[in-house]
Amino acid sequence: MGRSHLIKPVLGNNYPVISHGKGIYLYDKEGNQYIDGSSGAITANIGHGVHEIAEAMWNQAKHVSFVYRSQFTSDAAEQLAEKLANYAPGDLNSVFFVNSGSEATETALKVAIQYFQEQGIVTKTKVISRWTSYHGITLGALSMSGHPLRRQRFTSLLEDFPAAPAPYCYQCPLNETYPGCGVKCADDLENIIQTLGPDQIAAFIAEPVIGASGGAIVPPDEYFKKIRAVCDKYNILLIADEVMTGMGRTGKMFAMEHWNVIPDIIALGKGMSAGYTPMAATIVSDRIMDVIEAGTKVVMSGHTFSANPQSAAVCLAVIEFMEKYKLQENAAAMGEYLVNHLQRLQWKYPLIGDVRGKGLLCGIEFVKDPITREPFELSSKVVDRLLSICFTKGLLVYPAVGGVTGFSGDSILVSPPLTVTKEQISDMVDILDQSISELT
Ligand code: PLP
Repeated sequence: MGRSHLIKPVLGNNYPVISHGKGIYLYDKEGNQYIDGSSGAITANIGHGVHEIAEAMWNQAKHVSFVYRSQFTSDAAEQLAEKLANYAPGDLNSVFFVNSGSEATETALKVAIQYFQEQGIVTKTKVISRWTSYHGITLGALSMSGHPLRRQRFTSLLEDFPAAPAPYCYQCPLNETYPGCGVKCADDLENIIQTLGPDQIAAFIAEPVIGASGGAIVPPDEYFKKIRAVCDKYNILLIADEVMTGMGRTGKMFAMEHWNVIPDIIALGKGMSAGYTPMAATIVSDRIMDVIEAGTKVVMSGHTFSANPQSAAVCLAVIEFMEKYKLQENAAAMGEYLVNHLQRLQWKYPLIGDVRGKGLLCGIEFVKDPITREPFELSSKVVDRLLSICFTKGLLVYPAVGGVTGFSGDSILVSPPLTVTKEQISDMVDILDQSISELT
C-alpha cells in the first residue's frame, strides 16, 4: 500500500477513520466506539456532534463567512470579543483573535514587548517561562516552552529565554517539600529577574495548571499571589496561558480565578471553539491597550483569518451552549468525582504515584517507586504502552511527557468533555483500571 497523502503524526501508523461523534463518544467507520476521555487534546469541551453549533455555522455562512480584519468588522466578532471581555477578570477588556493556542501565546509575547517599546523601554525583550511548560509549537511559543522533545531539533532557531522552576510539588525541581519550602519556586523567579536584570524582562508566562508537559500540575495556593507581587515589583507583565485551562475546563471560566490573581494578558484556545473551528484569542488589559492606543495604535500581529465572522459565530454558540448547560459547574462537580475514582486506583496500583487536578483537568503520574517517587526509565515507555492498551479498549487519554530534561515525567491527562456524567466517568475509570492491570 502506498503512503497516504495526508501527513499523520506517526508515519506508517494506522489511524482509524472517524465517521461521527456524539457527546463524549467518537465512532470509526468500522463501527468501533471510543470514549473521548481526553477531549482530543483537551479541546472538545462541549462534546461532539452538537447540533446547535452546526446551526450557528450555517446561520453565519449563509450571510458571510469571511471579511478581512483590516477592512471590516462583523457582529459575530464584536459580540464574541464583548462576551470574552465580560468573563475576563479585572481590566482585561480587549481581545485579539488568532487561529491557534501557539499564535495566542506568541501574540501575548509580542504585545508585552510592544507595551514597553511604546514607552521607550526597548531593552525589555525577554520572557521568563518555566522548565515544565508548553506554550505552543511556533518558534516564539516554543522559545517560551520547556518541552525538550519538541524543542530539540530547532534549538538554533529558538530565543534563549530564561526559565524558572515549576511549582511541581510531587517532584520538586528544588528538592524542597511543601509547605515547609515557603513556595521557594516563586522566590526563584525573583532571583532570576535580579540576575538577568529587570530591564531585560518584559513578561513572565505560566500555565495556571501545567498540562501537556506535566499532567495537571496544580500550584500551591500561594504561588500565583507571590508571582503577581514579584512581577509588579519589577514592572514585568504576567501572561496566563489559559489555552488548556480556560473556558471552564477547571471549573471556573479562567483557572487564575481559583487564586483571585489577575494577569495582564490571557491566552485562550482549545475549549474556546471546543474544536468546532480553529480559533483562539489573546485578551489584553486596559493598562496595556491605553499605552498602545496613545502610541502607534496598532497591535503588531495578525493573521489572514483573524476575527473571521464564521469562526466567531461558532465560538459564540459554544459559549452559549456552555452557559445553557452550566458546564463550568459540571466541570467542578465531575472533576471531584473523577479524582475520587482515580484515587481509588492509586490505592490499588503502586505505580500510580500521584493523582491531581482542578475541575476536569485531571492527571495521573506513574512512578517506579511510590515511596521514593523514582521515575521509570525513559525506555520503559509506560505512558505509550498504557495509551495503546486504553485505545484498544476504546478509551482515549492524553500523554503528558517530556517536560523536564532527563526526566521521563510519565503522566497522562484524563480530561473528558465538560458534559460528562457520573456513569460515563465510572465507565472510563473501569477501562483505565483494566488497562493499568495489564501494564503491571
Ligand atoms: N498553550 C498551552 C497551555 C497548550 O496546552 C497548548 C497546546 O497544547 C498551546 C499553548 C498551543 O496550542 P495550539 O496547539 O492550538 O497551537
